[in-house]
Amino acid sequence: MAIDYSRRKQVRKGVTKGQYEAITEAMRLIVEEDRERGIDSLSEFVCAACARPRTMVGSVEYDGIRLCNDCATAFEVARVDHTAGSCAEFVSARTAGRN
Ligand SMILES: [Zn+2]
Repeated sequence: MAIDYSRRKQVRKGVTKGQYEAITEAMRLIVEEDRERGIDSLSEFVCAACARPRTMVGSVEYDGIRLCNDCATAFEVARVDHTAGSCAEFVSARTAGRN
């Protein structure tokens, strides 16, 4: 697999290792399910949070806002950590300061 999991190793304070592992496992399952459903790994969208072209595989839509798998993982962690409210708030916090 050519997926980079290295960025997911940062564990925020307030999130237990077990919670973090449960989130990353759930996110990994989304990738597997998308592959099984035949979603083309070459089809891309621009992630609302990181603003980069990302594969549709493993992406998650929250209230009409689509996040890549990495950003969705970060959002889920932030929700557990109570540092994020809605997805829109998460996205605006992430994109703040960007041109
Ligand atoms: Zn993203």
